[in-house]
Amino acid sequence: YTINMEQLQLFEDLGKGTYGVVKRVLHKPTNVAMAMKEIRLELDQAKLNAIIMELDILHRAVAPEIVEFYGAFFIESCVYYCMELMDAGSLDKLQGAGVPEDVLARITASVVRGLRFLKDELQIIHRDVKPTNILVNTQGQIKLCDFGVSGQLEKSLAKTNIGCQSYMAPERIKGESQNNVGTYTVSSDVWSVGLTVIEIAMGYYPYPPETYANVFAQLTAIVHGDPPELPDQFSDVAKDFTSRCLQKNPQNRATYSQLLEHRWLVEDTARTVDVTGWVVRAMEWKRQQWNPKPEETIGGP
Ligand code: ADP
Repeated sequence: YTINMEQLQLFEDLGKGTYGVVKRVLHKPTNVAMAMKEIRLELDQAKLNAIIMELDILHRAVAPEIVEFYGAFFIESCVYYCMELMDAGSLDKLQGAGVPEDVLARITASVVRGLRFLKDELQIIHRDVKPTNILVNTQGQIKLCDFGVSGQLEKSLAKTNIGCQSYMAPERIKGESQNNVGTYTVSSDVWSVGLTVIEIAMGYYPYPPETYANVFAQLTAIVHGDPPELPDQFSDVAKDFTSRCLQKNPQNRATYSQLLEHRWLVEDTARTVDVTGWVVRAMEWKRQQWNPKPEETIGGP
């Protein structure tokens, strides 16, 4: 039940995060393949202990739309976080392949169900919904990761997390500029869902590049500009869905129940969608971005 480094065999890096690398590992006692995230923190033992204890609630976050948590431990000033291995990685690296509308609707339905589960069952607000935090696998499953469960961890990470490409809702941006941290509600995540769906559809962050060349211009565009919309090739039902999320006034945004009752997601549940087929095509597209030659030496050391 408690995982430690001695039980793990380390393999290649799966990706680089803001705070450290994510590695593929094998948990030797159970023979389970996992992803291990390293988070470098300059904290004392007591604070690191508090983080490990706070992360324990993740053992209850078991749902088809949530990346499973296996355990966490720390060594010196690094927290190591072990979770379910998602063999196709995060959507930000696959979305450039182009996403058909039925796959987009299925991704959206999974994200909304996952967020509703976290809120209803665990009283957790995600706080960081974006394509990087949606993982997929070649079985066609779509799952959320990286949600805020540890107050101590969020506090320690927040200091370094002032990046461009903000998924924050307008009221959150306004609240932070007034140093008001109490403005975050569940509807702020609904805004991020809308922005994330549009980004996955377009293949890139939807606010125009001149706005994310500089953080201030970008935050101004989110607070004062019109919200982005889905491109024309998507259906009116889909466009209506994202506009229900991207209301600048949080009180006008749909709730999770309303989103799940929206025709776009109701129609999704009635369809068969070949997510695996899309994932396999998108991974091949991703591979060609890195290595335009045919596959030669994959898997060798
Ligand atoms: P950040 O800290 O910037 O949010 P992460 O550390 O969560 O980023 O992840 C960095 C990258 O590692 C992701 O983009 C993804 O490609 C990969 N990754 C993260 N978690 C997993 C996982 N459970 N399975 C497979 N790949 C993962």
